[in-house]
Amino acid sequence: MTIYNFCAGPAMLPVDVMQQAQNELLDWQGLGRSVMEISHRSKEYIDLAEQAEQDLRDLLAIPDNYKVLFAHGGGRGQFAAVPMNLQGRGKTAAFLTTGSWSQDAFDEANKYLSSNLVAKTEHKDGLSVVPSITAEMINQDAAYFHYCSNETVDGIEVNTIPETGNVPIVVDMSSNILSKQLDVSKFGVIYAGAQKNIGPSGLAVVIVRDDLLDSAMAETPSFMKYQTIAKFNSMYNTPPTYSWYLAGLVFKWLKAQGGLEKIAVVNSQKAELLYQCIDESDFYINKVHPDFRSKMNVTFHLPNTDLDSVFLEQAEAIGLVALKGHRKVGGMRASIYNAMPLEGVITLTNFMQEFARRHK
Ligand code: PMP
Repeated sequence: MTIYNFCAGPAMLPVDVMQQAQNELLDWQGLGRSVMEISHRSKEYIDLAEQAEQDLRDLLAIPDNYKVLFAHGGGRGQFAAVPMNLQGRGKTAAFLTTGSWSQDAFDEANKYLSSNLVAKTEHKDGLSVVPSITAEMINQDAAYFHYCSNETVDGIEVNTIPETGNVPIVVDMSSNILSKQLDVSKFGVIYAGAQKNIGPSGLAVVIVRDDLLDSAMAETPSFMKYQTIAKFNSMYNTPPTYSWYLAGLVFKWLKAQGGLEKIAVVNSQKAELLYQCIDESDFYINKVHPDFRSKMNVTFHLPNTDLDSVFLEQAEAIGLVALKGHRKVGGMRASIYNAMPLEGVITLTNFMQEFARRHK
């Protein structure tokens, strides 16, 4: 039986990547050792690290005035690293909160500077709507403006880049980075925990504009300081070498798929199929306004919570796993990142249609 893993994170990785990792687990590049057993200072590893960075730069067309950092500590590490690194720019930071993750980023930042709520998700006719942000809404003295481009728990995606005037934009792209093309030049800092579209957990990719490297508060731990990480090519302390290696394989895989333009088409197809299945059902309910529905995390509720466990059990019995919604919101969530094949979504929608027929 084929297993389709809809876990929100750590999420499934492309099968080709896992197979390559398996094939070279014990003997990488003929060294007779695993890539996780060699020095990060060896020529072989440095070549790997540089290649991974270059592939990421190619995929996202990252301009030369941005550094790419491979940092420790995942997404939440950056919830603290961002305010610490940018505190020298001002006493406040402006926030758009759209769900659970941007709220947590807001709370964490508030420890280091004063985080200022500019706007938050609104609820209109029972649907979540994200307000548009304009420069007039933001104090132009703010150190930065922060938002989350995809709320993994709530299934809300923000597709329009906010207008912030001269205030640099910091974005948490943990759950939709590399899912579509991106104009990096619109941002001051882009960060993402790796465990959805990049690789295993623990690693964070940070893309930071050069002029923002030098504003850290003095107490910032050295290994979290962007300036230091950049100076040492992300090897100030021993990096999560195996995660970095896997991230490199994922970048190569993405290139082989035709890059972000191509993967975005498949991602749209998958999301459309699922939302169509929900909308046409008179059974499943999605509570996000169509303009803000996530293409990565599709959330839905059944008409009656008593059915939740039946749904999950029957899905699992045919290989559709990890569909339980986050405990904060309940219901179901199908996470359909880059690695989820179209067939996985087709199998899921067939099951959902059948389940609805039986339980209406
Ligand atoms: N931001 C977003 C959007 C996330 O989805 C997550 C984790 N699911 C985090 C931040 C936190 O990441 P981590 O658990 O790696 O700290």
